[in-house]
Amino acid sequence: MASAHYVFACIDCDLQRSYASTANQYAYQLMDGQQLPMLTGPSWCADCRNLCPAERLPSAEGEAALLKTLLCLRLDMANLLKEVPKKRPWWQFYAKPVNGLNPLESQISQQEQQLDAYRTLRAALAERASPAHCLICGGTDHQPLPLPTKPNHPEVLSVTHPGCGGLLTVQTSKQRTQKVGQKKVFDLEGRPFRNR
Ligand SMILES: [Zn+2]
Ligand SMILES: [Zn+2]
Repeated sequence: MASAHYVFACIDCDLQRSYASTANQYAYQLMDGQQLPMLTGPSWCADCRNLCPAERLPSAEGEAALLKTLLCLRLDMANLLKEVPKKRPWWQFYAKPVNGLNPLESQISQQEQQLDAYRTLRAALAERASPAHCLICGGTDHQPLPLPTKPNHPEVLSVTHPGCGGLLTVQTSKQRTQKVGQKKVFDLEGRPFRNR
């Protein structure tokens, strides 16, 4: 599976770090053997003194944001369906799909799956005591960094490069890699999972 790449840089020095999204590379292993994909994102880790992949713990705000996106998509769908002439017989409607309906349908189903997975993960992590960990060193002293919202457009973040003071920037990169390497599993406290 190809993963998205991002480049972080600093406006005051020559720091440049690339970050590949870690979709499906990290998971929580439950006692019954079931695995739940971990939410991850880039962080500046104080211990590694580097840009690292880090855990992102699900929150009520995160769930509300996903739900809001889903409701907006469903509203778009309702508006689109309203434009379908009422007198068209149903079979004609299905034979000739309305423009934009299919992509919207698949967007909605993707968003529903994402929300479901988020809720499952949030419930599984309800008892979680420790904060999110850096996935390289396991430390918890790290500053989460956002990913760009617009493709092909560098963004200046309101986060400074520690020890330098320059603002960090981020942009998407056209680079793609095929994911290799083994999936890493963790317990629900974010500690490397060990059998026995
Ligand atoms: Zn710098
Ligand atoms: Zn670290």
